[in-house]
Formats: sequence, structure tokens, C-alpha cells
Amino acid sequence: MRMTLRRPLLAGLFLGMLASLAPAQTPPAETPPPLELVVLGSGGPGATGRAGSAHVVLVDGVARVLVDAGPGSFARLGEAALPLNRLDIILLTHLHADHAGELPGIVKARAVSAGRPVTLRIFGPGGQRAKQRDDADFPSTRRFVDLLFGKQGAFGYLRDFSAPLTLQATNIAPTPQPRVLLDEAGLRITALRGHHRDAPAVIYRVEHGGKSIVFSGDIDAGGHAALKRLAQGCDALVFNTVVLDPPGSPEVLYTLHTAPSQIGAIAAAAGVGRLLLAHLVPAVERERAAVDASIRTHYAGSLSWAEDGLHLRP
Ligand SMILES: [Zn+2]
Repeated sequence: MRMTLRRPLLAGLFLGMLASLAPAQTPPAETPPPLELVVLGSGGPGATGRAGSAHVVLVDGVARVLVDAGPGSFARLGEAALPLNRLDIILLTHLHADHAGELPGIVKARAVSAGRPVTLRIFGPGGQRAKQRDDADFPSTRRFVDLLFGKQGAFGYLRDFSAPLTLQATNIAPTPQPRVLLDEAGLRITALRGHHRDAPAVIYRVEHGGKSIVFSGDIDAGGHAALKRLAQGCDALVFNTVVLDPPGSPEVLYTLHTAPSQIGAIAAAAGVGRLLLAHLVPAVERERAAVDASIRTHYAGSLSWAEDGLHLRP
């Protein structure tokens, strides 16, 4: 396992200084790991200096998979200096704005990176009608993509702007068994429906070369059984951490999110190799020591906190 925070500018200056001191040498090419996680956005819904939820998964060193597209992730993508021209899979955990709001900008960036036809596969939850009169309906992922990029969509012009763009959107319905979304050349992505109060939500597991990363998405107690199942034995679990143990957070947030003691219990029950806390909000950050201690009452594995720009090799 390896974790580094890359700061390109400082690293560049440092390397420049080294280069002026040492004779030029070509470093041996490093074999990329089968999977690597890059955190683009480690923040929550508030504008607190972190980008909203977004991650890139590198497969054999190639940026192939984007998991969520929260506000600010477009800028972080550029800072991470990741070539976009082979990104072809987007996994949306749910369609709240702090997870999906930056999708148009990133899709356009992908289109202009190409110079040739682009096909993007976009997976996300199916839609849901409001159960109560005052609640909002949630569009399905297919409808969401169509509202943005369809012929009549807000950004319909992108379909043939700098490159012909094909978006294949798939709705993930609730199923008792994990659903295999794709299994290609050793890259396997499975999903199970999670639970985020009224917002349809999906948990994803990405596997390649004997390594695995699971993304909880925003999740309340209704999704815990599914998460334990999909995260079983994974190398890394990215867990959205938005509330303190009760009664430390507003009551309503417990109908949407998972408290630290439950996070620790799930990570322990699933036997995950390492736990990365993400989707961080200031109230949780202020209580880091208490959050760590609560998780530690159940979970003894590696535990770390996400930062924008963090690289993690499970
Ligand atoms: Zn969220």
C-alpha cells in the first residue's frame, strides 16, 4: 500500500533543484500498479476549500474510471495532470449536485482531449418518484444524461462539438445479487444498490490485477447490508464520512449518512484492507481524534483521511 499527496508545483521545483545538482540520469521505468486511486474531491456539499466528491481510478497506470463528479473536480483533474484521452467509464453513486454537478465540464474536457470519436459509459441509479408530495422526483441516470447531453438537452451541442460523442447511460436497479457492470481484460466493476434516504444510490466495486477498491457513496443504515456484502475482503474502502456519532450531528443527517462507529463496524465485518474517509465536512474534521477513536473500537486495519490530490495504491 502506498499513499502520496502530489503537489505538482512544489515537486517540480524540488526536482528542478535536484536536477541542477546531480548528473542527468534516466530513472528506471516503474511498472504501474494494477489499480491506483486519485482523490479529486474529498469534500462535502459546502464550499469549504475541498472539491466535492470525485475520484479517478487508474487501471495499469491509465485514467479509465471516474467515480462521481462533484463541483471543483474539473480543476483538480487538471492539477492531477492526468491524461483524459482514455477515460471511458463514469460511475455515479447518486445524482445529488455535490456528486454529479461537474459532469458537463468533465465530459467536455474529455471530448476536447480526443481528436476522434469518444464513447463514454455512464452508470448510475435508476429514477424514483417522490414518496411524499413535497419531495422531489429523482431522474434516472439515463434521463439525467439525456437532460444534459441529449438532442434537446441543455448541452446537446456537445454531441458533435470537438469530437463525435456517444454517451451510453445505464440505470442500475435494485437487485438482490451484485450486478456485474463490465468485465473486460481483467477490469471488473460490480454494483449493488445502496441507500441514501430518498435519493437512489449505488455502491461500486472496481477490481483489477488482484486489487479492489469499493466506494460506499453517501449511505445510511438502509444500505449497510449491501455495503458489507460488496466490500467483503476488498483492499480499500472509500467511505463517505459526514456525521459524528449520535448525538453529535443534526438528527436529520442520520437518515442520510453513517456514523463513525458504524463505519468501523462495517469495515471490520467486511474485512477491508484499508479505510479511506472521504466526503469530509468541517464538523467531522474538527473531531478527527474522536472519529478515529470511534472507528478504532471496531476496526484495526489501515485508516486514513482523504485530501484533494491524494494518490492511494491499495
Ligand atoms: Zn454528498
